[in-house]
Amino acid sequence: MEDCIFCKVVSGEIESNIIYEDDKVVAFEDINPQAPVHYLVIPKKHIPTLLEIKDEDQKLIGHIYSVISKLAKKEGIAEDGFRVVSNCNEAGGQTVYHIHYHLLGGRNLQWPPG
Ligand code: 5GP
Ligand code: ZN
Repeated sequence: MEDCIFCKVVSGEIESNIIYEDDKVVAFEDINPQAPVHYLVIPKKHIPTLLEIKDEDQKLIGHIYSVISKLAKKEGIAEDGFRVVSNCNEAGGQTVYHIHYHLLGGRNLQWPPG
C-alpha cells in the first residue's frame, strides 16, 4: 500500500526506532508516546483494520501476541502490568489504517479509557 505510513515504516521509507523485527512483524516506538513504554507492534503485511483479518492470518496474529509478551518481559513492565490496545475505525480511535497493537506500560493506566 503506497500511501500507508506503517508500510513505509516496514520498508524503511519512514524512519522509526525499531526495537524488534523478524520476517513477519515489526515493533517500533510510537512517535507520540502515551506512557514511558509505548511501542507499536505491526504485521509487515498490510491489513487495514482488524475487520479484514482472515482465517489465514490467525498464526500471524498469534505471533504478534507472542512478540508483545517477549517485549513486555524484556522492557521490565511485565510484572507490574501493561496494556495492549488495538483501535478499530473512527469511533474506536483508529488513525492509521494498518493494524497495530499498542503496547503501553511503565505507569499506572486508568480504566476505562476515555
Ligand atoms: P491509532 O490512533 O491508529 O490507534 O494509533 C496510531 C499511532 O501511530 C498513534 O499513537 C501515533 O502516535 C502513531 N504514529 C502515527 N504516525 C507515526 C509515525 O510516522 N511514526 C511512528 N513511530 N508512530 C506514528
Ligand atoms: Zn500498510
